[in-house]
Amino acid sequence: MRRRGTGGRVIPLRAAEIREAIVETAQRLQRIGLLSLTAGNLSVRVEGELMAITPTGMPYELIGPEDVVITDLAGNVVDGHRRPSSELPFHSAVLRARPDIGAVVHTHSLYATTLAVLGRTIPAIHYVIASLDLTTVPLVPYSTYGSLELADGITAAIGAGGKAALLANHGALALGTDLAGAATAAELLEFLASVYHHALAVGEPVVLPDEEIAVVGERHRDYGQPGERRPSDARDGGAAPR
Ligand SMILES: [Zn+2]
Repeated sequence: MRRRGTGGRVIPLRAAEIREAIVETAQRLQRIGLLSLTAGNLSVRVEGELMAITPTGMPYELIGPEDVVITDLAGNVVDGHRRPSSELPFHSAVLRARPDIGAVVHTHSLYATTLAVLGRTIPAIHYVIASLDLTTVPLVPYSTYGSLELADGITAAIGAGGKAALLANHGALALGTDLAGAATAAELLEFLASVYHHALAVGEPVVLPDEEIAVVGERHRDYGQPGERRPSDARDGGAAPR
């Protein structure tokens, strides 16, 4: 079943489910302190070269599924009565650049943003970084929010792989094959950032070698109970023993 959107294009019925999942996830991320006020935004790939994205400037507790905007991957609104997130350019750029990615979560979470303000990357100070398919969380150079320069900086940093990045003087970016995976990646990134911050405050953190991160990445593929779907798919980092 499909219906016509306000932009004249046909909207897959699954978009309704995705809109609900976005609201639920955004509100959960707000409850656990990763999102606050109107900062941050979420997007999910919808079949047919479309995406669903949170509206701009609305407090998360007031957002309903009908406020989530459907756009095409060029950023044109296809369905919805709200204006999409001001970060639409980088959400669509990530989904265009990374066919393996199905969802993008952007936050101004405290510790990731603290390190981004310091202009730091996050090295492999804890093995869970393997769940982000990275040995170092990269730092995207500062550009004005909502700009194409910021979108270009992000795709340059994560275009080849990886599920997280810090945005200088701005915040954090987490990716997943689906929305649950991207939300888990956002939580893992904030965990890593907070541990790194605390470790730097009292001494010099020990960094694991890249080979060990590769071993952990392999081990993650076998982690969890046989025959059960993991809390989030292993490729999305939810299988990290925590
Ligand atoms: Zn932001």
